[in-house]
Amino acid sequence: EAKLAGKNTFAFYNADMTRLARRRLELEEALTTGLALNQFELFYQPVYSIGTGELTGAEALIRWRHPEWGLVSPGEFIPLTEETGLIVELGEWVLREAAGQVRQWLDQGLEPGSVAINVSSRQLMRGHFPGILKQAVENAGIPAHRLEMELTESSLLALGDRTTELLAEMRATGARLAVDDFGTGYSSLSYLRRFKVDKLKIDSSFVNELAMEGGGEGIVKAIIRMGQAMDLEVQAEGVELESQLVTLAELGCDSFQGFLRAAPMPAGEFQNLLTSIRSG
Ligand code: C2E
Ligand code: MG
Ligand code: MG
Ligand code: MG
Repeated sequence: EAKLAGKNTFAFYNADMTRLARRRLELEEALTTGLALNQFELFYQPVYSIGTGELTGAEALIRWRHPEWGLVSPGEFIPLTEETGLIVELGEWVLREAAGQVRQWLDQGLEPGSVAINVSSRQLMRGHFPGILKQAVENAGIPAHRLEMELTESSLLALGDRTTELLAEMRATGARLAVDDFGTGYSSLSYLRRFKVDKLKIDSSFVNELAMEGGGEGIVKAIIRMGQAMDLEVQAEGVELESQLVTLAELGCDSFQGFLRAAPMPAGEFQNLLTSIRSG
């Protein structure tokens, strides 16, 4: 009896595993095809100065426009591309695409500020990312400071001993460096002193807490103080409410992005926004 149940359980488990493995394989193939067929696209989310309210740049966020599935969010496919290693190629596409886009906007006399790109730790571990970055900037013919590389704290830790050297090489290209989702990992002053970056991006979970009943501003305040002490720009992400923005302003946060002002939008829409800013 017990043996049979065990057998059945194993059979179900096995069938589930097969189904999962097949789905994963299908998705993996679809991603590779998607890259070959140019199904990926960058959305841009405006970033604003809290002091002046002016646009200072944007974050490039990848989307997958699948012919059947429609617009797919990065949360649904980036983890798999990181596991399989496809992120290396996809990440290079993101870099080239964003750099080329910035070139176009500058050519049109528009002012996109600096465009931030998310870089995963797999991209940094494989190949020579600083060289790829340098190449992308040179090919596009844009000033390197027009690009900002976003790395998470966990990526920085995953790289171990090589982090300092890699960051220095990236910085030497002239690109800006930011720590994304700051506060969710191992955030310490000593590590910030070791890893020279330009900006800290306060994770949206802490910004969220600013709106909650009895929600604390403690962590947000601490991050802003930390950033000020290290002479870094501090940016808040996921700002949805006016009250959050008011608190961030009071605490001395420099810039923000969030649905309150603008959600990520297709390149054409962001370009219209830049055009409207230029015309006053
Ligand atoms: P992230 O870098 O922390 O990006 C911020 C995420 O917050 C974006 O989600 C953005 O759409 C969302 N967001 C912005 N403002 C608000 C707001 O006010 N409220 C809420 N609820 N959400 C807001 P998205 O575009 O789905 O991207 C998710 C994550 O996927 C990113 O988190 C990043 O880690 C990753 N990702 C996106 N594009 C790329 C890429 O090109 N390469 C790599 N390696 N990762 C990427
Ligand atoms: Mg980011
Ligand atoms: Mg983030
Ligand atoms: Mg985040």
